[in-house]
Amino acid sequence: MKPFKGERIFTPGPVELPDSIREVLGRQIIHHRTPEFTQSFLETRDLFKKLVGCPEENFVFFASSGTGAMEAAVLNFFEEGDRVIAVVGGKFGERWAQLGKRWGLKVIELSVEWGKSVDPEEVEDLLKENPDCKGVLVQMSESSTGALHDVKTLGEITDEKEALLVVDAITALGVYNMKPCEWGIDVLVGGSQKAFMLPPGLSMLWFSEKAKRKLTGRAYYFNVEEELKKQAEGQTAFTPAITLILALKESLNMLLSEGMDNVEKRYRAMSEGTRKAVETLGMRVFPENPTISLTAVFPRDLDADSLRKEMLRMGVRVAGGQGKLKGKIFRISHMGMDLLDMPVVLSALELALKRLGKYIKLGNAVGAYLEALDG
Ligand SMILES: *Cc1c(COP(=O)(O)O)cnc(C)c1O
Repeated sequence: MKPFKGERIFTPGPVELPDSIREVLGRQIIHHRTPEFTQSFLETRDLFKKLVGCPEENFVFFASSGTGAMEAAVLNFFEEGDRVIAVVGGKFGERWAQLGKRWGLKVIELSVEWGKSVDPEEVEDLLKENPDCKGVLVQMSESSTGALHDVKTLGEITDEKEALLVVDAITALGVYNMKPCEWGIDVLVGGSQKAFMLPPGLSMLWFSEKAKRKLTGRAYYFNVEEELKKQAEGQTAFTPAITLILALKESLNMLLSEGMDNVEKRYRAMSEGTRKAVETLGMRVFPENPTISLTAVFPRDLDADSLRKEMLRMGVRVAGGQGKLKGKIFRISHMGMDLLDMPVVLSALELALKRLGKYIKLGNAVGAYLEALDG
């Protein structure tokens, strides 16, 4: 039953590439030290500036996966010995804590039960107890559990304080209509293979004026100050991910011509419908307050990995659980998807359940999804 067109990817990174992006990726390389590249790069930067909607051009792109920009955030905005709070409610929160410790920060880990979202009041209390705290590191969308953290409220809390709010928005930027400077975010991290619908290898780092005053100059490859100087003029300190930058321009054009409000609406409709559909099947949506970029599902008495395997036999790839959630949940990405892509995953899910011996009436989940769209 494997489709002749090959596997479909519904994982929270990498996500499927739109045709217009694949067309750009298939072109012959251009050299980066040319007016041609500079012009395209400046246009790309202009579009990214529109996406984040802030007056300053405080952002750089790196040739790295998303974690590279997370490391850059830690290195460029914090000194050794700085005290920071890391919100740890999943695998990516753990990464913030590990990165901080590796580079000599004093990390206060604020543990959140996996699947729950951080209570902003707890962050506020910790900041009061630690007035020397220099930063709060958090995910907006914790992709490992599917939980959404309320970064807007966190922004109100850190706004008047010295602490920088550092947000890993790798599965949020390009999904939500994020307004970092209005929300009080100080450092924002994005990555190419998630909501930007590109191959992996390009990361983005945006920062506020407040963060800019803290630049440490500690990094070499990931040096924000040196990169910004070059990138503002349409060049880069090192060889850029040329093709990915050209493709990012197409991706940003797609997002902005749909309009970020509409993009967010599309993801909201897809995720709400998917949640209703899986609940119809007797499964539980894993996070309490879910992100709209993906849906993490707890199939209760079923082994999530057997279910995934069955779906893969039909050519539908969804992601499994990470860390302590391995085998317990599966994750359906909405990123890069159209409304009518979801019935493909839900159909595979229904058939897989039936093949694993679960009695279900075929079509119920797909029906619930379509009803939700129509409603
Ligand atoms: C994918 C992801 C990352 C970064 O992973 P890379 O493999 O380095 O691109 C970081 N944080 C979140 C929330 C993610 O979803």
